[in-house]
Amino acid sequence: MKIQSAEFVLSAREPSHYPPATFPEIAFAGRSNVGKSSLVNALLNRKGLARTSNTPGRTQEINFFSVNNSLYFIDLPGYGYAKVPEKIRKNWAPMIETYLGGRRTLRLVVLILDVRRDPSEEDRQLIGWLQHYRHPFLIVLTKSDKLSRNELGRRRIIFDGDLCLSSAVPMIAFSAKTGEGRDLLWREIRKAAILDNGEYLCYKARGYVNACSRYGRRLS
Ligand code: GDP
Repeated sequence: MKIQSAEFVLSAREPSHYPPATFPEIAFAGRSNVGKSSLVNALLNRKGLARTSNTPGRTQEINFFSVNNSLYFIDLPGYGYAKVPEKIRKNWAPMIETYLGGRRTLRLVVLILDVRRDPSEEDRQLIGWLQHYRHPFLIVLTKSDKLSRNELGRRRIIFDGDLCLSSAVPMIAFSAKTGEGRDLLWREIRKAAILDNGEYLCYKARGYVNACSRYGRRLS
């Protein structure tokens, strides 16, 4: 994917502050420090566009980036960072849920997990929510450079069993350091982004949905 332009547009906490829903949107979600900013920067070939920091939980708003003037990347606030005050933490779920539930141009949610860590309760809740509302999503297992090929294979099997996902949900090993998975992830993004509204509805109906509904509840 050739990146001609990639620009920060705005940060928003509520729908009235979102930019007009003009482009297909790809949202990125994950717990704080999972490597979300690094992944967005790697996809866009930009070093400092999405903030990368060692201060987890810094990004507490929904950030919109315009890509090639034809696509929005949405950096959702990271969740699950213990040092963030309870009041702010409590706002995150409704903020994320409002965006995911109401944005008609949203085409794909990229849920990022650290390949070395088991999914958190919030990760599971988010997956349950996406399944419940039949949102197309995929899983990225990031920081893959930190594991050997054997370990990576073992972790994939564990995630497969643990998350109980349908085989239609892609699971992509990714590394912002080595570039592993970048082309594959772009392929999925492009596939999702070209869908027009009619096709999108069929796609939702066909379902990136899981047979296992035990996570089918609201984020809390
Ligand atoms: P965010 O809080 O989810 O946006 O996470 P960041 O992108 O700021 O990354 C958190 C930490 O993980 C930083 O120290 C990054 O350098 C590191 N990191 C992110 N992605 C990778 C990766 O693919 N490989 C390795 N080895 N480190 C990574």
